[in-house]
Amino acid sequence: MARPQRLVILGSTGSIGTSTLDVVARHPERFEVLGLSAQQRIGELTAQCLCWKPRWAVVPDEARARPLRDALRAAGVGTEVRCGAEALCDMAADSEVDSVMAAIVGAAGLRPCMAAARSGKRLLLANKEALVVGGALFMRAVRDGGATLLPIDSEHSAIFQCLPPQRQDWAQTIEHIVLTASGGPFRQRDPASLGNVTPDEAVAHPNWVMGRKISVDSATMMNKALEVIEARWLFDLAPEQIRVVIHPQSIIHSMVVCRDGNVLAQLGTPDMRGPISYGLSFPQRIESGAARLDFDALAALSFEPADAARFPGLFLAWDALRGPEGSSAVLNAANEVAVAAFLEQRLRFDAIHALNADTIAAVVPDLGDAPTLDDLLALDERARAYAADWVRERAR
Ligand code: NDP
Repeated sequence: MARPQRLVILGSTGSIGTSTLDVVARHPERFEVLGLSAQQRIGELTAQCLCWKPRWAVVPDEARARPLRDALRAAGVGTEVRCGAEALCDMAADSEVDSVMAAIVGAAGLRPCMAAARSGKRLLLANKEALVVGGALFMRAVRDGGATLLPIDSEHSAIFQCLPPQRQDWAQTIEHIVLTASGGPFRQRDPASLGNVTPDEAVAHPNWVMGRKISVDSATMMNKALEVIEARWLFDLAPEQIRVVIHPQSIIHSMVVCRDGNVLAQLGTPDMRGPISYGLSFPQRIESGAARLDFDALAALSFEPADAARFPGLFLAWDALRGPEGSSAVLNAANEVAVAAFLEQRLRFDAIHALNADTIAAVVPDLGDAPTLDDLLALDERARAYAADWVRERAR
């Protein structure tokens, strides 16, 4: 039998991270967990390390490393605890590692994703913001490093599952793709009433259980905007080849409309263990733990257009894709600042879009011909600074 796939999970304490461990636990003979990482939830990381006994665990700083080291030493677990962003990159690029699950939230995941891509890993990408910011540079790193990039976002996994196995056949197959969106918790709310919604209301997604940032993004549909940009890079599409439709049941995860008019769709229950297990086992399939669709109980699959008055953020995706290189990084940075401010109750829900739109208009990228990772991260910083000032000036 082949040796187990050696896996690192960046962001193992989050929603995607824990779902990944759930799938891995069903197949102990197939996977070896080599590395885990966390930012704040050190208690959860400690429990994961005690269970999985990884070779490495990475946390941001010594203050968070100390209690983890103490707990592991007391239990006789030999995990090496490392600190800082560089340690994340080293772990993602280590020659012993086969696969990297990129499950950090936000642009903070870009550097370790690039490290994994450059060193030719099998890269399971949940961390969409990394690709939204990295764009062409990210895809070049995947190509030059010989990495295998596997989408984990359910919509992109759906498209990937519908496409022919050979990447060179994709352009000839795809006329356009249709990303489905649930519409989130405010699909039927009067847009005029959205100013006063609370963080708890915004993160209460009707179909998916997810981290807080992506849940707010689903409520504004900025998540779908980021997915449009992600799809542009994953499948090498022009902006006009990417469409979005609201599908409240989240059963069809997305569709490919082929050049001959045939439509291919991937369906399933809304459970991230479906796409995660496919990424882990590709091109084979393994048990994911996801409940099976019960077609007898499915009352209806319905569709409606995304309303620009209710979801103006969605349409920023195409503006960013048609703007100068780096516009998507600016949009992402603004949105990360806006969502954090909203969750801390320093910004109204309906100001998230205003902040994003203003930042795109004000921070015009000037990256030159061949931007480096440092250039992109400097642009990200510039956009964050603008957005942070905006929040300070116009806070609640
Ligand atoms: P969570 O917030 O649940 O988890 C994020 C993980 O990243 C946690 O382990 C967290 O550590 C860690 N983390 C947070 N900030 C940093 C940082 N600055 N540096 C290093 N690590 C950090 O998010 P999700 O799991 O929901 O989402 C992860 C990614 O997957 C996002 O990009 C999201 O868009 C994408 N995704 C998520 C889906 C879902 O169903 N959840 C579906 C599709 C895509 P700690 O917990 O210790 O703070």
